[in-house]
Amino acid sequence: MSTRTLLRGGVVADGIGSTTRRADVLIDGPVIASVGAAVPGPPGCDIVDLEPGSVVCPGFIDAHIHAEGPLLASGRVDGALAQGVTTLVIGQDGSSWIGASADTARYLNDYYAPVNGVLEPPREMGVAGYHEALSGRLSHNIAVLASQGTIRHNVAGMASRPLNPGERIAARREVEKQLADGAVGLSSGLDYLPSRFGGVEEIAEIARPLAAAGRPYVSHLRSYGAEVRAGLGELVAVGRRAGIRVHASHMWGAPEEISSSFDAADAAGVAVTYDMYPYRRSSTILAMLVLPSHIQAGGPEQTVAMLADDGQRAALLADEKFSHESLRRVVLGCLPDEMAEFAGLPITQAAARNSRPAGEWVLDLLIAADLKVGAHLDRPSLTDDHLAWLALGDRHCAGSDGIYQGQNPHPRGYTAFARLAPYYLADGPATGYQRLARHFAANAADVYGLRHRGRLAPGMAADVCVVGPGGLTARATYDSPVIQAAGVSLVMVNGMITWRDGKPVTTAFPGQLVS
Ligand SMILES: [Zn+2]
Repeated sequence: MSTRTLLRGGVVADGIGSTTRRADVLIDGPVIASVGAAVPGPPGCDIVDLEPGSVVCPGFIDAHIHAEGPLLASGRVDGALAQGVTTLVIGQDGSSWIGASADTARYLNDYYAPVNGVLEPPREMGVAGYHEALSGRLSHNIAVLASQGTIRHNVAGMASRPLNPGERIAARREVEKQLADGAVGLSSGLDYLPSRFGGVEEIAEIARPLAAAGRPYVSHLRSYGAEVRAGLGELVAVGRRAGIRVHASHMWGAPEEISSSFDAADAAGVAVTYDMYPYRRSSTILAMLVLPSHIQAGGPEQTVAMLADDGQRAALLADEKFSHESLRRVVLGCLPDEMAEFAGLPITQAAARNSRPAGEWVLDLLIAADLKVGAHLDRPSLTDDHLAWLALGDRHCAGSDGIYQGQNPHPRGYTAFARLAPYYLADGPATGYQRLARHFAANAADVYGLRHRGRLAPGMAADVCVVGPGGLTARATYDSPVIQAAGVSLVMVNGMITWRDGKPVTTAFPGQLVS
């Protein structure tokens, strides 16, 4: 098989200039050899004549995706590949089982399976071990973040107190080790347990190795929406203390509040970036959406026991989160098989089918499912104007927050890039595709320090996404979420084709751990 490929007849959005240009792209092995007008194909070169109107972009980078489980199962995520995503940044929200001890993997299998999937059997799994488990069967590149909550559990279990000095040293060493093994940053998930038990001072201390490594601290903030300013304040405080740049995951909130926080970060000399997906509904584990952290602090087994206690139930049911009005906004996504009939329904409707009050029914659901329920939450205060402002901001990079578990996953794992595309193309394709290439590839490469990815230029890795003349089109919806996007005609990863004409190429596995 030839190792040289010429992509001929397309328009190139290299992610560098301000407008696209008519150019051919010659790929030699895993790297781009040249980008220019009418490049001659050397002897023995594979020539791909692109359909007129095709746009050759740098392979897209998903800055935030929950693909640990799907990758372990099959080495690829078709919902991402169909949108031209060549690099997946995993290890998100401080709660990945990559970097876990066997005990922590067991905990995460119980607590977080509706998001990342499970590691079976639960075992110690480092960055290097995960890569080895996928070696030779990866259709994408993966970049991995070390997870602060996972590391905290490794060193202190579910302790809700600050880590003691010895534990901090142990946690920082784990961060150092994972960076040495190729991790591209450190994530936290301050709505999740035990990640949320870490405060500014503690996280800054264990995040310090990021400074020398030139990598970011990436956080699912402690608060968004009406309290986004406090969440961003905490993020920036960690950045300032540790002397590192910081990145907010799946950002949302009012533009005025966010931009004043960015101004404060600039004044403090802390570089801040963010990712977002363009939907009003979020998606996560149901326990996080409805249960206060003191109910979850002892781990899933104890939580389930507390949910069966009359006194605890009465207290929970009196909380606003268990009101009919609140539960009406929560849609079930991932359920145990025997309860699959309720997937896709708002909790109030599912409860009505059982002729039960919604609050009582959802507590029993959590008990029956051992908490393993994923759900989507409508956020009425997140307006279309807010989404547009977030999508167009210079600090933004695309992150799907794709979750691929359960009967009714959020469609964002199949559509986030396709739904973002129109924001960048509004002023026409010439400048539009260059903006798109920056938001979909170059910006994320800069955030994570992936120096050889995210742009099309000689010497860069040959990760390529060709968008056909019809453009990238979302097809999945809330009601039919598992439908691949249309419009990407060709995907190359490290110089090999992994997606063509609407299908994965199942004979090439060029994906690497990138760093
Ligand atoms: Zn996430």
